[in-house]
Amino acid sequence: MQIASDVRSGATTAEAEMASSLEAIRARNDELNVFLFVDEGGAINAARRVDERVARGENAGQLAGVPIALKDNLCQVGVPTTAGSRILEGWLPPYNATVIERVLAAGAVPMGKVNMDEFAMGSSTESSAYGPTRNPLDPSRVPGGSSGGSASAVAADMTPMSLGSDTGGSIRQPAAFCGLVGVKPTYGLVSRYGLIAFASSLDQIGPFAKNATDAALLLEVIAGHDPMDSTSLPEPAPSLVSHVNDGVAGQRIGVVRELYEGADDEVVAEVERAAAALRDAGATIVEISVPEFRLGLSAYYLIAPAEASSNLARYDGVRYGLRVDAEDVAAMNEATRTAGFGAEVKRRIMLGTYALSAGYYDAYYGQALKVRTQMIDAFRRAYQEADLLLGATAPSVAFTLGAKSSDPLAMYLSDVFTIPTNLAGDAALSVPFGTGDTGLPVGVQLVGPGRSEAQLFAAARVLELADGRS
Ligand code: GLN
Repeated sequence: MQIASDVRSGATTAEAEMASSLEAIRARNDELNVFLFVDEGGAINAARRVDERVARGENAGQLAGVPIALKDNLCQVGVPTTAGSRILEGWLPPYNATVIERVLAAGAVPMGKVNMDEFAMGSSTESSAYGPTRNPLDPSRVPGGSSGGSASAVAADMTPMSLGSDTGGSIRQPAAFCGLVGVKPTYGLVSRYGLIAFASSLDQIGPFAKNATDAALLLEVIAGHDPMDSTSLPEPAPSLVSHVNDGVAGQRIGVVRELYEGADDEVVAEVERAAAALRDAGATIVEISVPEFRLGLSAYYLIAPAEASSNLARYDGVRYGLRVDAEDVAAMNEATRTAGFGAEVKRRIMLGTYALSAGYYDAYYGQALKVRTQMIDAFRRAYQEADLLLGATAPSVAFTLGAKSSDPLAMYLSDVFTIPTNLAGDAALSVPFGTGDTGLPVGVQLVGPGRSEAQLFAAARVLELADGRS
């Protein structure tokens, strides 16, 4: 990454890069509502530490002096962390998420916390208790969600990279809407320690950047075993940047009907063009159908709310953030949760509690787990026919603010192509490829088995070059 090598060589300083990021944030934050908290003091300190390392002749790190935006569900010591919810207003985490420790150790400069759908439940960033974020490419439109702030920060050139989280598509879909590369890593590749939990068996933290190489670099920094997360894979971070230019010659890439059918024509056209570009670069394109993928959305909307209803039970007015006083503890819990959670979060808690309740557990939650197993088997079969899969990231380009906010099902359908990967725990990314009729970016999705990130980045790079990107 150019900034990091310039900081290491002394061509620029971390403090100067931090100052220009701050200026970019100030220029557009009122308009776009990206940052919920700008950590000016923390950023100055982090930048000075990097410059001191450079002055002492030490290696200042792979991300030396690179400003980074953090989704507001990542815990950072002493920095307000709300997960987009009133219930956590004023809460200061006592520890750093592992990913934050790792980016700091690599020399990155965290600029603050960025907006998101409340507890990461949403696809537009409109469910944030702190107001919607706007898409920097067209402020009348949403940036996608739930990591809409993370995508907008990079698309508005406030920071060159950012971190988000993806439970059902929350990195890939906003990356598609904002013209960025966004990665949902293999489950367990990146530690979830210090990520405010939504649905623990699906949540993964991942990078946003303007291109595959920078995204690969950030993923290399944050990946690798962490004893603080019991689901962390027992191996070091893979080498990714060194494979970005490997190409796709000899790879079999499966264009999966269920991963683009039903999308707008302008999106389908780009998926077809992407398949042709990969074929031109030496891949063998096979057309495949995986009917099980159609079951993903229904299974997800039982499993994710079920896990969320359990994870969100901890917000009781005693341990974190908001408390609304009342006569006794039960009344205080109720008043706090009534005031602290927004409508979408309440809907998920109710759906999840229902799906887990005695008498309904087998019919809903149990059934959804069986579908999840079918999904995993279906992916396995697909990977016998193809090394990687190709489809659309989202059914449309960025939609206008308010277009889906009163229709939860329409909003949920935004993730119809991304959810299957989360259920299987596999790896996937979105890469911008071409533009739709209105000139807005289209994202195509590349999906691969667990630990296939290096091949996914190589394929993404082929598409970047075919699309005339640097
Ligand atoms: N939009 C999906 C949901 O609301 C996915 C969110 C996410 O990946 N965090 O559950």
